[in-house]
Amino acid sequence: MSLLGFLAALPKVELHVHLEGAMPPATLLDLARRHRVRLPADTLEGLRDWFRFRDFDHFVEIYLACSSVLREPEDFQRLVRDFAAEQERQGIRYSEVHFTIGTHWLTGLPIDEILDAIGETIREEERRRPARIRLIPDIVRDVGAKTADPTLDWAIEAKKRGLAVALGLTGREAICPSEPFADHFAAAAEAGLHCVAHAGEHAGPASIESVLGPSRAERIGHGVRAVEDEALVARLARQRTPLEVCPTSNLSLGLAPDLARHPFDRLRRAGCELSVSTDDPALFGVDLPRELANLADAFGYDAETLVELVVAGVRHSFLPEEEKRALAAEVEAEARRLAPLHLGRGFAPAGAA
Ligand SMILES: [Zn+2]
Repeated sequence: MSLLGFLAALPKVELHVHLEGAMPPATLLDLARRHRVRLPADTLEGLRDWFRFRDFDHFVEIYLACSSVLREPEDFQRLVRDFAAEQERQGIRYSEVHFTIGTHWLTGLPIDEILDAIGETIREEERRRPARIRLIPDIVRDVGAKTADPTLDWAIEAKKRGLAVALGLTGREAICPSEPFADHFAAAAEAGLHCVAHAGEHAGPASIESVLGPSRAERIGHGVRAVEDEALVARLARQRTPLEVCPTSNLSLGLAPDLARHPFDRLRRAGCELSVSTDDPALFGVDLPRELANLADAFGYDAETLVELVVAGVRHSFLPEEEKRALAAEVEAEARRLAPLHLGRGFAPAGAA
């Protein structure tokens, strides 16, 4: 009997996870060897030491190293296959996955071939496993306009093929504003893509306000520093703007000293719409069942509250409405079935008779 077993078996969705940041360490080492890329470590143990994050710059250094070993379309296919297998292992049925095609465009890789390769593998994996994957190609603020154009074009083409659901915005929000990309997000919306933006992670409330404006983000990646401004928290709750919260990532990068002092529970009690994700699971050494179980440990959440958070993720996803309803119903039915097996009791969601 364990809550972790219950959470592992429960069908889930993940809305904030980066494809490059989900690269298994063994794949990173293998691709580095194959393409003769020198990394600061060449063993799994060495990687674990290197992955002890000092700050955001150190994180970016590691993230770019993961990107740098992707050289051929087959490497991207391997990354997608690894990702789909891992999502299935965690019981994640549907993922909206950030992918920074601009980095690969900058190094001169054939991004059209990469789209063909990734699309083929996503379709193959969907036939093999109950793990659907949709992409969120993202613009990196600090790399600027030169990669924003090819990223937008790539995202629109991926949308036409049914592979992408949104255009994302990432990068150093503290030093790079989001306003210069307003036209890109308007064009993406015109093409039927949703818009999401990282904000309120390394910068405060003003950064969140900026993406609610010109880039019209429908979901905020992180957004936890909204807690510094009561009026903004009230606005996010009133507008029901979903925040994709990644607690382990926040702790690893120093946003809070421990989970008990992380803003998650304060934002939840203030009525904000929250879902839970892992951000870069391979780099932070976490998975989604563990991420949810940690919240139970820190804040005393029961299984019903955790299932509510999973269902919130389904509601905040960009799945068609009918599929959202079906998946949410499946999560709740599975929670009722799994509770006696893993928790030794029935499942009693709030509002149930
Ligand atoms: Zn992220």
